[in-house]
Amino acid sequence: MLTQLQKRGGSEEPFCKFCGSEVESLDHILCTCPFACKVWKLSLLRLDFSNLSPSYWQKRWFSLTEIWKDGADSSACISLVAFICWSLWKSRNDLMFNNFLWEPFDVSKWAKLNFHDFREVRNQDALKSIPPPSLPPRPSRWVAPGFGSLKLNFDASFCSISKCCGGGVLLRNHLGHPIRVASFFLQNVCSPTVAEGLVLRESLTLLNMWGYSKVLVVGDCKSVMALHPSEEALSVILDDIPSLLFSCVGAFLVWTPRSGNVIAHLLSKKALAAKCCNFEWSIWPLWLLNACTSDYIMLSV
Ligand SMILES: [Zn+2]
Repeated sequence: MLTQLQKRGGSEEPFCKFCGSEVESLDHILCTCPFACKVWKLSLLRLDFSNLSPSYWQKRWFSLTEIWKDGADSSACISLVAFICWSLWKSRNDLMFNNFLWEPFDVSKWAKLNFHDFREVRNQDALKSIPPPSLPPRPSRWVAPGFGSLKLNFDASFCSISKCCGGGVLLRNHLGHPIRVASFFLQNVCSPTVAEGLVLRESLTLLNMWGYSKVLVVGDCKSVMALHPSEEALSVILDDIPSLLFSCVGAFLVWTPRSGNVIAHLLSKKALAAKCCNFEWSIWPLWLLNACTSDYIMLSV
């Protein structure tokens, strides 16, 4: 927080970057700032903090969770609160470090989008504990990002004999259309998880170079997406991710089951098989366009 930074000798004014009139505290950024108030009012929760006096954030969080603790869908409401707070914090960082001002509507929408992705993953996890039904499983699908947002899917394919990996990166818009496509071929890779980490790092480097904003960065390896170094070689790679992510405006990491990452997986398989060098595709083959179209059709059924 700015107030804390200033105590450590920083030269910044301890005022909120959104309104410029109040000292920046966690409670102010997340609740009482007029910017935050607009975001909460626009959210599904329709909360109104505009008449509340400043408080300690911990106290506020407690009172928020109290509101829903006995409700039928209390965990969903509390998760949504957490996603709104996360998006507010992210928009504060984008304003402070990237000079990028989000609209309150976009912050609220972004929180909702991440919340829905999170719920979908949770529901799929819950289904795993139920015995398989006699019906065939649901078709795999890719979920389109909201209007004005982009989704970058990446995946790695690893060969344990050659210790090489192929990487696929696919950036798509809210209609499912491909915007950018890239392939990687990396050598001397020690494990499939390290391969996933390396391709994530390459993907974020590309995203920085391309300069898009509001991008969900989606992968299917849980430990990599949680930035959890499950093995030593991975920790060095994952150390680079926060700063890369931070320099992309409005980029978030989201985990997806493999069924939501099918085309990126195909791209990585092809890159491994072709032993191609790292390159960005200038022409998109028909199979890729067809795959993107059928993915999107599946979503709208
Ligand atoms: Zn403010």
